[in-house]
Amino acid sequence: MNKEVFKTIFEGKRLRMSHPRFLVYQELSTSESPKSPQELYQCLAKKERKIGLTSIYRCLDLFESLGIAFKIINGSSVKYKLCEMEDHHHHIICKKCGDVVEMDFCNISEWSEKVTESTGYEVTDHQLNFYGFCKECKILQGRQSAGG
Ligand SMILES: [Zn+2]
Ligand SMILES: [Zn+2]
Ligand SMILES: [Zn+2]
Repeated sequence: MNKEVFKTIFEGKRLRMSHPRFLVYQELSTSESPKSPQELYQCLAKKERKIGLTSIYRCLDLFESLGIAFKIINGSSVKYKLCEMEDHHHHIICKKCGDVVEMDFCNISEWSEKVTESTGYEVTDHQLNFYGFCKECKILQGRQSAGG
């Protein structure tokens, strides 16, 4: 997600682009791998950008709720990755290496109807994550179970 898109989302929601918000975005957008709140805190501190861990947590929560960043929970580790896709999308997470792939297809309208039928709710939103093993980890996994 580039800077323009990031700004447009904030403007659309009438949210203030504060200094910490922008710095956290910048740090995530330049890092090659997903980062934990602590890692972000350390990276920013090294660059003399002193932002409290609490503000970083708040920024990440906000980014997640706006669909700007994705929270990757793998066991006890929690990391965040900036979303590449701007529109509604889903994620698949590798349980071994933590790699994330975004998918732009969403075909659950029938499921939504069933939810409405059984609960009476009007469905306005949904989140759905897939978990598994990426191509590379699948090969490793196969080798290991083959005994070498
Ligand atoms: Zn995403
Ligand atoms: Zn993997
Ligand atoms: Zn969907």
